[in-house]
Amino acid sequence: MSHSLNADLHCHSLVSDGTLAPAVLARRARENGVQLWALTDHDELGGLAEAQQACAEIGLDFITGVEVSVSVDDQTVHVVGLGVDPVHAELRARLRGMSEGRDARARRMAEALREHTGVEDAYAGACRLAGNPALISRTHFARHLVERGVCANTGEVFARFLTPGKPGYVEHAWATLEQALGWIREAGGLPVLAHPGRYRFGPQRERELLARFVELGGVGIEVVTGSHSAADWRKYAALAREFGLRASRGSDFHCPRESRCDLGRLPRLPEGLSPIWDLLH
Ligand code: AMP
Ligand code: MN
Ligand code: MN
Ligand code: MN
Repeated sequence: MSHSLNADLHCHSLVSDGTLAPAVLARRARENGVQLWALTDHDELGGLAEAQQACAEIGLDFITGVEVSVSVDDQTVHVVGLGVDPVHAELRARLRGMSEGRDARARRMAEALREHTGVEDAYAGACRLAGNPALISRTHFARHLVERGVCANTGEVFARFLTPGKPGYVEHAWATLEQALGWIREAGGLPVLAHPGRYRFGPQRERELLARFVELGGVGIEVVTGSHSAADWRKYAALAREFGLRASRGSDFHCPRESRCDLGRLPRLPEGLSPIWDLLH
């Protein structure tokens, strides 16, 4: 039973770079047959109270969450914290401290984008699209450049301008892996490595990352996510077993038009894994 649970433990509201309000997401999850749902905004806890309230009203099992941005060597890695205390003062302060750098980064991104696309109002445009002024992300820039007709879709904006090595990409120092896991654990959460198939470490460094993640108290890994191919499900199912990690499942839904995968519309976890929700439910 536990394996076949329609758990969706990763998605975003307009408190970070999603486009729907937490309560709207809760209803959408419910309509799509989700049985256990977590909201995991980037570096933000601000949507959790609304999500929790909405879930209580419609009778949907809810788990609090957050997706923490982490710098590992030259890459950004995401760690989802499931079951964190949504009003944990220390966690809130840490996340806020980290997000303070986002505004300066956004201004630099806007400058680079002006130079390379001719769009003059990228900063104002991204701010207008951001539901939370403290959280201006690359996604908001991507949406603005689509509105301006620079690219046909946000995926194209990322590919041409917003990924490492591209002209609108601005390096940023996020939390260290040790910090992120420490913050999540202190707030009572379980750290889950998000969408591992998206990183570009190579086999050796990837194994080193997983070993270090476990050493620092990491508990889970996303096996079935909207970012993974069928080959990734198999690969990360095997790595989850090898490293003794619990398996998680989440759509990473952001927006009805953009997201590849809607809430709850994912394959079930492969057999032979220990679902992370057995520790949460
Ligand atoms: P930021 O935290 O500002 O660096 O923005 C990260 C967000 O950008 C991720 O959470 C994704 O929603 C989005 N993103 C990153 N890479 C891509 C990509 N290649 N295509 C579409 N969206 C992406
Ligand atoms: Mn995002
Ligand atoms: Mn992510
Ligand atoms: Mn995400």
